[in-house]
Amino acid sequence: MRTPFISANWKMNKTVDETAAFFKDFIPLVRDTEGVDIVIAPPFTSLHTAATMIKGTNINLAAQNVYFEDKGAFTGEISPVMLSDIGCSYVIIGHSERRQYFGETDEVVNKKIKASHKYGLDVIMCIGESLQERETGKTFEVLKRQVALGLKDIPATNIVIAYEPIWAIGTGKTATTEQAQEAHNFIRRELASLYGGASEDIRILYGGSVTPENIDALMGCPDVDGALVGGASLKAESFARIVNFKRS
Ligand code: PEP
Repeated sequence: MRTPFISANWKMNKTVDETAAFFKDFIPLVRDTEGVDIVIAPPFTSLHTAATMIKGTNINLAAQNVYFEDKGAFTGEISPVMLSDIGCSYVIIGHSERRQYFGETDEVVNKKIKASHKYGLDVIMCIGESLQERETGKTFEVLKRQVALGLKDIPATNIVIAYEPIWAIGTGKTATTEQAQEAHNFIRRELASLYGGASEDIRILYGGSVTPENIDALMGCPDVDGALVGGASLKAESFARIVNFKRS
């Protein structure tokens, strides 16, 4: 039985004051929510405020990125040790924006996952195809490669996968439930070939223009175990409605 997992990804949004205002509104809206892992990934500058405000609640903290060394001369980078220390239990690795704008490869993703696990962080590993890859029939080939290289020599535990078709991120174009289920089922089979029966416990999230309007249908797909939410996670009411999705 996989517990549903809903994570916000705020990307480069919200100051410290805006973060505090969000949690003031959001915490009461999810206080009674049970049976869902709730995660929020604010920017680095808001982690301390978020960590302070979620103490004693059912909300968990994630970072949006990490470097694979634990300390040293790496100007501008943040280590897994620092993320654990500030109160993160999760880190998002390999988001398509990191791959696209910051040259993150599958090999770098793999190193970051290993470093994060070493310091007790659970990982949300993002994978997904571009529009061109989908239109040229390469979706499964891309997903297969990202799973195999990203998870090379990594155990089946402390890992969550986020399937995020790039053409659906921030575009308002959500994958249909059929497209999401098809990709998730393919990923589940790839995980089974890597991990055998242990793959059944790995949560696979859908990401890409998730909203309060489409979450219930997406969560009705047998292989969709949760969501990674960008734009619709910035407002407390909207993200709370997603977290409190209606089960079919
Ligand atoms: C994301 O940031 O991972 C994402 C899916 O964004 P959005 O929900 O805005 O498409």
